[in-house]
Amino acid sequence: MYYIGIDVGGTAIKGGIVDENGVVIIKDSVTTDAGQSSDDNVRDIAALVKKLLTASGTDENQIAALGMGVPGTVDPDDYRIFYTCNILFRDYDFVKEFGKYYSFPVCIGNDADCAVIGEAVFGKMKGVKNAVIVTLGTGVGTGTLVNGTLVSGFRGAGGEGGHTVIRMGGEKCGCGRRGCWEAYASATALIRDTKRAIEKHPESLLRKFAEKEGKVSGRTAFDAYEAGDAAAKRLISRYVRYVGEGLVNIGNYIRPEIIFIGGGISNAGDFFIRKLQSYVTRYSYGGRRNPYIKVMKATLGNDAGIIGAAALPVLKGAGRKIR
Ligand SMILES: [Zn+2]
Repeated sequence: MYYIGIDVGGTAIKGGIVDENGVVIIKDSVTTDAGQSSDDNVRDIAALVKKLLTASGTDENQIAALGMGVPGTVDPDDYRIFYTCNILFRDYDFVKEFGKYYSFPVCIGNDADCAVIGEAVFGKMKGVKNAVIVTLGTGVGTGTLVNGTLVSGFRGAGGEGGHTVIRMGGEKCGCGRRGCWEAYASATALIRDTKRAIEKHPESLLRKFAEKEGKVSGRTAFDAYEAGDAAAKRLISRYVRYVGEGLVNIGNYIRPEIIFIGGGISNAGDFFIRKLQSYVTRYSYGGRRNPYIKVMKATLGNDAGIIGAAALPVLKGAGRKIR
């Protein structure tokens, strides 16, 4: 049997057929249309599924279930989508509408939740029961697994670790609060701080790297750091503390065995993960006397979104069947 994984993102909807070992046998994508209706989004996803089945020669009856990860809030029991950003689903019964196209069971979850499930079901550390994934991208996403169960809170609206405050009255966050972890640890925040550092230190390599790339990106500070630039060293050492503080908060509250780091920033290099590991080991409650929390880069790579979505029905046992 096979699983279909659908990863709904702000710019593209990616889909793939995944085998029982988590190997993607075929994948494809469609552009996300933020302006179209929810029913049209379902039609696009059904068309993507059709392309995947046809291109791989897979029969509909060989599909055990479809899993879908969305950037938003989903009811963990009936998979009603309450809200998504960058694509229109508001209090929407996706499973019912999708049932007009296909009859296999469907599971839907928050994308960060799918990411941690993907690691636990198909990743290098598969079988891990207590794990958190932190995705450092446009925002900061968190997915949490405790005793092998996904913790998504009342009606799926929990697990927003990025919106816990690390500095009262600090930087403004997109959620309306000030000082959220996301406002310091996201790629967006790092880019903002890199721009500030360039203004303050126009002589730094930060400026040179940004000019070479044509813009300031999440990589600029890391590139300048690796080239030995002093302003970049200060910037990265502060960024490590920002990310580290949030990781220690999560570590103290959940005490996972592993914290996976995902998202674009996780590609910064091994030195970044090593620095986060020492920060967490040093400052976690009980220090080295308590069980060790391993910090590691997420292991599923570029197809993590598809594999994580496909892993959702594996963890949940099945999906919701509409007909
Ligand atoms: Zn916030």
